[in-house]
Amino acid sequence: MEMDLKITFWGVRGSKPTPSRDTILFGGNTSCVQIETKKKNFIFDGGTGLAVLGKKMFDGGKADADIFFSHLHWDHIQGLPFFMPLYEEGNTFTLYGQDKKELSFEDAIINQMKAPYFPITMEMMKADYEFIGINTDEEFVFQDGTKISTFEVNHPSGCLAFKIEKGASKVVYSTDTEPMEGQRRGEFLEFIKGADILIYDTHYTDEEYIGGLCGGKKGWGHSTWEEGTVISKEGNIGNLILFHHKDDRSDRQQQEIEVLAKQKFKNTIAAREGMVIIVGGDGLEKVVVDYPY
Ligand SMILES: [Zn+2]
Ligand SMILES: [Zn+2]
Repeated sequence: MEMDLKITFWGVRGSKPTPSRDTILFGGNTSCVQIETKKKNFIFDGGTGLAVLGKKMFDGGKADADIFFSHLHWDHIQGLPFFMPLYEEGNTFTLYGQDKKELSFEDAIINQMKAPYFPITMEMMKADYEFIGINTDEEFVFQDGTKISTFEVNHPSGCLAFKIEKGASKVVYSTDTEPMEGQRRGEFLEFIKGADILIYDTHYTDEEYIGGLCGGKKGWGHSTWEEGTVISKEGNIGNLILFHHKDDRSDRQQQEIEVLAKQKFKNTIAAREGMVIIVGGDGLEKVVVDYPY
């Protein structure tokens, strides 16, 4: 099979890292997904999973990457100060993230590493790196033909979804979003339409989101696995990957959700740390899932 895109999940947890005996199967590191082509190394989000990926890249010698940040909540940036390849001379990184009116992406990242928050500033990192401020509805085409486009989803302080296209393969990384309504929902469905893989924020169950006597989680910025299955059907998605697992969700609970989601949308998998998905070629073998780590 000709590979277009190789996806590796280094962090799949939402909100905060959750190292625990109850999270060994799915993993406790926060958001970090690597998507490689034969020539390029793209990373989406720098949660604590980025530190694990960094160690792997560091062991492999030279380590260049384009790192896209969906937004700047802690669970998406906390791994950056511990990303060892940034400390190594000769490595090259381009960091992409959303500029805000009051604060540029570059300043937001640099400021989180200043004292008293962290003892090492970014100036002390020896790799070559540059910051690129991005926004919604942008499109980047890289030398090897990979196209990455952006879409603003529904999250407090904003968040970008990314669509990665290479050859005939299409992957969407859409974390941290509430279900969308009306025209925006239609636009989102158009953005994700026909993707081979949709990595989607399924932090809550519908029951948790809508709430009962205790009140729900509407307005907290996250979607549900049920909504994931609905948009996957409507958007003609090949495979739905449940992502940004709720921080206090045990492995057993997450397994139950995966089973229920499969009943509504057959090609559903709950993301696990270390899971690899190869996308490419034609026919039955277009998507292959493996657990090599
Ligand atoms: Zn998050
Ligand atoms: Zn967030």
